[in-house]
Amino acid sequence: MRAPMRLFLASLCLLTLLAPAHAAPLAAPPPLHVQPWDGRTWILREDLQATWEAPFLYLLVGRRRALLIDTGDVADPARMPLAAEVLARLPKDGPARLPLLVVHTHGHLDHRAGDAQFHGLPGVEVVPSDLAHVRRFFGFAAWPDGLAQVDLGDRIVDVLPAPGHHPAELVFYDRATGLLFSGDFLLPGRILVDDLAAYQASAARVAAFAKDRPITAVLGGHIEMDRTGALFPWASTVHPEERPLPLGKAELLALPAALQRFNGFYTARDGFVVENPIRNLAAGAGALLLALGLLGILVVRTIRRWRRRRSRP
Ligand SMILES: [Zn+2]
Repeated sequence: MRAPMRLFLASLCLLTLLAPAHAAPLAAPPPLHVQPWDGRTWILREDLQATWEAPFLYLLVGRRRALLIDTGDVADPARMPLAAEVLARLPKDGPARLPLLVVHTHGHLDHRAGDAQFHGLPGVEVVPSDLAHVRRFFGFAAWPDGLAQVDLGDRIVDVLPAPGHHPAELVFYDRATGLLFSGDFLLPGRILVDDLAAYQASAARVAAFAKDRPITAVLGGHIEMDRTGALFPWASTVHPEERPLPLGKAELLALPAALQRFNGFYTARDGFVVENPIRNLAAGAGALLLALGLLGILVVRTIRRWRRRRSRP
């Protein structure tokens, strides 16, 4: 168990001990938080106690069908009743519910583990998150160039390729609300670079798209920062003073320059931090090997000196 989790449980025990005998026990948080943005848009978030990734998912309802962007980190419906919560919000068309299209910002498991809950449901189509399926479904003949649309019925959602964090990353723009759903491409936390050249090109394309459009908010896949801009420890299950999710057009337009300035390891900016986890890991491993090498030399020298002293008459 990780230290923050132990601290959190210890505080819970202390609170229980201090509470009056007749007070009700502390209720566990629901595994899924569902927040309406408006009457036909919902922001869903998996609770930190259900998964430290605590990803955000988005449900958009049009006149003819609905769109779910990402399915989160938990497959088991007993632990995370995602499909039930989503289906319950779909308007009924006679006895049937509105059809649902399930898509992904990208294929990392914490954004698609819930797919299993939707497979085989009537009226539900799940688009697989690998590049071949994404290209074919949205018709991106010259990936990563091009722009696709999903028509939900009086509600158009633009779809933009945005590889760099993941090879099949997508960004979605809802014309009805002006919301841009950015997954891990841009979020208040760690911008994890996998392919820097692809990321830089994607950031330039998305910024050019957004420049002359109204952007109400940029909603990413996670929150990893507190209100002072400090990052929470990796895999933390408590987020004290967590900052709000939305980033703005300013951060979106600043992303290309931040990626150009990226030193290959770590670059911080208001609202997000750019990192290359593989390089950081390699640099950490290199530093560790160097330290071990120096320690080895020190030990050998000390032993030699000690032997020399012992061998003196
Ligand atoms: Zn990711």
